[in-house]
Amino acid sequence: MLTKYILFISLLSLIFVKLPSARSQCVDLNLFDHTQRHGKLCPQIEDSLKKGSSSLLNPIDAPLEQIENNNMIQILFTCDEKNKPELCKKAKLAFQNVANVISDTLDFKVPIIINASFTQICGNFMNCDPTKPGPLGAAGPSRLIPLKDDDGKTRLYPQSLVKQFKLEKHPEFSEVDIQAGFNSEISTFWFRGDPEIGVDQVDFELVLIHEFLHGLGFLSSWDDYLSLDNPTALTPFPSFLITTDDLSSNIGPIKFTGFQEYPFDRYLSLTKDNIPLSSITDKINQFANSTTTFANEKEFTDAFTNSSQYLECKQMLQNSITRNSIVFKLPDDDLYPIETSLVPYKSGSTLKHGDYDSFSNSTDFLMRWKSPRQVTMENLLSVNGNDTNYINPIGPKTLKVLEVLGYTIKNNNNKVQTDNEVKQDDNQHNLQSTSGTESTTIHSSTLLHVLLMTITILLF
Ligand SMILES: [Zn+2]
Repeated sequence: MLTKYILFISLLSLIFVKLPSARSQCVDLNLFDHTQRHGKLCPQIEDSLKKGSSSLLNPIDAPLEQIENNNMIQILFTCDEKNKPELCKKAKLAFQNVANVISDTLDFKVPIIINASFTQICGNFMNCDPTKPGPLGAAGPSRLIPLKDDDGKTRLYPQSLVKQFKLEKHPEFSEVDIQAGFNSEISTFWFRGDPEIGVDQVDFELVLIHEFLHGLGFLSSWDDYLSLDNPTALTPFPSFLITTDDLSSNIGPIKFTGFQEYPFDRYLSLTKDNIPLSSITDKINQFANSTTTFANEKEFTDAFTNSSQYLECKQMLQNSITRNSIVFKLPDDDLYPIETSLVPYKSGSTLKHGDYDSFSNSTDFLMRWKSPRQVTMENLLSVNGNDTNYINPIGPKTLKVLEVLGYTIKNNNNKVQTDNEVKQDDNQHNLQSTSGTESTTIHSSTLLHVLLMTITILLF
């Protein structure tokens, strides 16, 4: 028994003992402007969590309201309470309920801090096309932190996941783990206590859970970072192209240090030949060695698009629009099909979700790229395959994905309370309604999906 224990500890230490150098560069993401990806020097520091400097919020430093309902998910909530007191109240309750669902499901070792706002997004955070439906919102890790895995590859980990590892030393943390912003100006969201949900409405809580899972790391880095408007080839995240604190990305020489995956990407494989996407990343990163520099971004792009490695990237785009071509490998030869059926490629949707058809009418419906319309947390039967036993909106396979990434799943994950302390008038809800239909436009019309390539964007 002791031998097994020691072996287990040894294996664990092997996995994460190697950390990046003290001058490693993290990536800070701006929720509503992907051009604002800032490289952030995040030197190794002693375990700050033990000292409490990052895990505990200092109310003096936190100008936002902290929702005090949950020890393991701390939400800094901001809302236009003055002008929309009732709406803010409903949104706040939704955040509380979602915090309970997630912390009843995942066994966090260290509290997750979420900066959540329910506010007017258009005009404040981004310009919106008035002729199109407004964006629903967005959520994502506030910082990506490079960690070296046991396969020797350095991947960009979402901060919330890094915290769970409780490393003795780690790159410096940002103040919050997940950024989330949702649009208070649209009528798409349905809240507890509202009249019966409309055919075009989505349960705000389901949206929040979906988004928070992206923020926790349900997120692939593969995207077309070099040609935003006209996707032609996919790569993992080009961390060598991001803006640093004092240097514009368009100025000065670029040193190619390789494209970087997120932890999610480690488990992706092509179905046709069982090749891990990580080996494709390796091939692509043979483009240049670490000493190769380019005068500017254009010179790099020109050289890269003319390289043999670029052909791999173009093939990856083809894979991403070919259904059943990519899976997330789960333990025991179980597979989680990844969304590769959208044509044309949709940044923010493709590869960042489970396969739509595979998970329709299943308990793993949640991480599809479109949110289910006219479905509430209280009655998931119309989307979960009519399963009356599994009430958690986070399905069993989705939980396995999170477990593989490094989170611990609680044993009682199907007994989560989805209506904690919620008082409501039964007459306002038709629990027998199973007429849920899927949105056909919301996800694709969400400008954010285009804008937020690395953050997960708001989906639906
Ligand atoms: Zn999504």
